[in-house]
Amino acid sequence: MDNDRNLLSLSAQELAELVTRLGDKKFRADQIFGWLGKGAASLDEMTNVPLALRNALTDAGYYIGQPDVITEQISKTDGTRKCLYGFRDGARVESVFMKYSYGNSICISSQVGCRMGCTFCASTIGGKERDLTSGEMLGEVLRMRRHTGEDINHVVIMGMGEPFDNYEEVAGFLRLINSPKGVNLSLRNVTVSTCGIIPMIRRFGEEFPQVNLAVSLHAPNDEIRRRTMPVAKKYPFSDLIRACREYTDRTHRRITFEYALIRDVNDSKENARELAENLRGWLTHVNLIPLNEVRGREYRTSEGTSVLQFRKELEDRGIAVTVRRTLGSDIDAACGQLRAGR
Ligand code: SAH
Repeated sequence: MDNDRNLLSLSAQELAELVTRLGDKKFRADQIFGWLGKGAASLDEMTNVPLALRNALTDAGYYIGQPDVITEQISKTDGTRKCLYGFRDGARVESVFMKYSYGNSICISSQVGCRMGCTFCASTIGGKERDLTSGEMLGEVLRMRRHTGEDINHVVIMGMGEPFDNYEEVAGFLRLINSPKGVNLSLRNVTVSTCGIIPMIRRFGEEFPQVNLAVSLHAPNDEIRRRTMPVAKKYPFSDLIRACREYTDRTHRRITFEYALIRDVNDSKENARELAENLRGWLTHVNLIPLNEVRGREYRTSEGTSVLQFRKELEDRGIAVTVRRTLGSDIDAACGQLRAGR
């Protein structure tokens, strides 16, 4: 795999070093970095960069790692678009473009497949094939912008994969997308979602306090969480709650807890009350997601009345709660429905 030659993985600094190593001036690196951030998909598009430098880069094996769009599905109901992307080595991931009243959002994948094994999620069915690099994640965003011709205002790392199982590359991606000379997206407009890898929650709070953190909780206690999320065996429920409290104490940032409502598994009144008990008195927000049913998985979504009842139980106890509007479910683009498309 020659992903280290993906120009999109290089910081402005690394690009400057590369350009001077190839015998050209440093300011050329800024030009190239600017082109990459604008979405150039080939060196030929960089018309103000000398041909000799472009050729030197190509000869040295460098390329722009935007994925190809292999197939695209557009939702008939809400305009959500899901792209199946292909990278140079044949790896495939899905990425979803969504329009909200407050702007356009892209949900990107951080790994090809996933090894976390949550029993209600499609992304984990074939296990993990490999990690994505920082440049490949940036490529997902740039390709979507180019492909749709639309601005991207928000990035959520909630597609396939567990971002904190690929921490270094995700961190690299965050620095790249935030780079003033490049895409220059505010980290306040980025959300990372984790299934609860505790050491990385701590580290993330220190290194990226501006980024929004979402934690997939999906249960009010250890017993239920262990049934659906194998990660809970390594990082128990009470430890996770403690780590999240520490995170909010230290960063003063509110954590969003994602809670997929699964019929007869975690959606009773008692479950809601126990959840409220755990979250009372600190800066949290619960995002209820009526389970998106996944082919090949036995779980069923909660009935509408259970969803409303669950919400009310939380609200009555002073917990901030929203019910996620499901976008793109007619094209299997909703939470937990993304897969490698093979
Ligand atoms: N691995 C990370 C990123 C995935 S984000 C994480 O676990 O947070 C995708 C979100 O959708 C997670 O909250 C995940 O638990 C949730 N999800 C997975 N399968 C789902 C399904 N079938 N219905 C609704 N939400 C689901």
